[in-house]
Amino acid sequence: MEFSMYLTSLPLRVEREIPHDTKARSHRLMVQAGFIQQTSAGIFSFSTLLWSVIRRIEKIIREELNAIGFQELMMPALQPTNLWRESGRLEHFQREHTMLSLRDRKDQEFCMGSTYEEVLIDLCRHFVSSYRQLPFRLYQISEKFRDDLRPRFGLVRARQFRMKDGYSFDLNEGGMHVAYQETREAYNKIFERCGISFVVFSDLRGSIGSTFAEKYMARTTEGEESFIHCTHCNFTANYEGSPYCPQCHAATEPLTALELGHIFELGPHYPEKMGALVADNNGRLSPIWMGDFGIGVSRIPVAIIEQYMDDCGMNWPFHLAPIQIAVVPVMPTNENQVSAASAIARTIKTTFGFETYVDNRAQSFGSRLKDLDFVGSQLQIVVGDRLDNGEVDVQQRNGLNKTTVPIANIVTTIENLTKGVHQ
Ligand SMILES: [Zn+2]
Repeated sequence: MEFSMYLTSLPLRVEREIPHDTKARSHRLMVQAGFIQQTSAGIFSFSTLLWSVIRRIEKIIREELNAIGFQELMMPALQPTNLWRESGRLEHFQREHTMLSLRDRKDQEFCMGSTYEEVLIDLCRHFVSSYRQLPFRLYQISEKFRDDLRPRFGLVRARQFRMKDGYSFDLNEGGMHVAYQETREAYNKIFERCGISFVVFSDLRGSIGSTFAEKYMARTTEGEESFIHCTHCNFTANYEGSPYCPQCHAATEPLTALELGHIFELGPHYPEKMGALVADNNGRLSPIWMGDFGIGVSRIPVAIIEQYMDDCGMNWPFHLAPIQIAVVPVMPTNENQVSAASAIARTIKTTFGFETYVDNRAQSFGSRLKDLDFVGSQLQIVVGDRLDNGEVDVQQRNGLNKTTVPIANIVTTIENLTKGVHQ
């Protein structure tokens, strides 16, 4: 419906007051822009604008994973804890107190999914029996849960968050290595396409017999973890301060970072424990070799905000901006201006598919522009007095590169300004 292109009908309200209980600046900006609304500690609603950013991030993830043979599926958030008893991980997770568990009316115990190895291995042992069915790769993008006592930094440390979890299944160790390397390449493409500056480093802590394990970390000004990083040999480790690199003895730099992804080779351990076995070409049974690949999807907008923000608020790479193009009538009560703005927005939306809105809110022109800059709208088309000559002003965020353009040329103008942008 057409009304959805007007900012009046979108729950957008930028608060100038700095909210309490927000330590990280990205968290503050998201609360001020109404992107997240906390319903309980660490549990949030995502606004339409944030959700539209996340949907585009997920599109990138899907494209890159599907390109290397991953297939998408959906698994239930409610998991019977009996499955976790079989894998032997129940006690560990309960002891860590991060598992959110509950009982149904028949007193059967469930947990809310934080990770899905058990559910997926259970699925495999029902459907996979022969080596001819291997290899395959599966993933889902869904809400995950973590019973964190001290949720903080908004979406960084939330109790409910959006995550992509993916798994590879191979007949042997060699196949698992191939899956790992291909997924590693796909991850590099995903974070590059999201416009994020990141570092990758190996992380073998707590892994069970895995040969490869790496973390993808976004550089941030404020983050949950501190690292030392060697620009010479790329060595990175969890550590405060700045000693010399143990690998090449160059001086390291301190680095604050946010974990966005984690990939590791899980091996045959859990499939063996849970009886997910396949017969090889000699009929001999052996366990499936697994790779495990996660992305903290709802952390990606946080990383982008951290890396792109300026004194005026959030900023975004154009293809992920929540409002890509705003058409702003100077006088929202002037019918000519509003109908010209609506026609322009309609044309842009149908021609390019960009996230385009008409800002007809009953606020002063200056304060509307300030809000748009705060949320990170990338291009603004101002419809004012020049309308009498059939002209509008086109400018970038923060009033940069302002030019006057005939309305008749608006499609070509937008085309030139957004060249090379992938939707
Ligand atoms: Zn080094």
